Amino acid sequence: MGHKVDFVCRACRYEERDLGVGRGRRPWPVLRLFRCDNCHSVGSAWVDEDGVARCSLCYHDDIALLADDITSVTCPKCTERGVFTHHPGETWE
Ligand SMILES: [Zn+2]
Ligand SMILES: [Zn+2]
Repeated sequence: MGHKVDFVCRACRYEERDLGVGRGRRPWPVLRLFRCDNCHSVGSAWVDEDGVARCSLCYHDDIALLADDITSVTCPKCTERGVFTHHPGETWE
């Protein structure tokens, strides 16, 4: 099962809540966190076995995939540090 993640940047108040990460019932595809420098957003996207991932917002295919347990990343909007809050108790499948 995967879990839920919130992203919040205190500097510019950009936030993305209720992002999913991890595996569901099937081994593939998996939900991965990403940062897209094309549309300047953070989100979660389905990644298939072949590793091709697209931004779920602008469909750009050159996104930076982030580790499933990442705790902070450079905010795509303002370049300050944004924080991920993981909710291991909030699962999806
Ligand atoms: Zn994008
Ligand atoms: Zn920011």
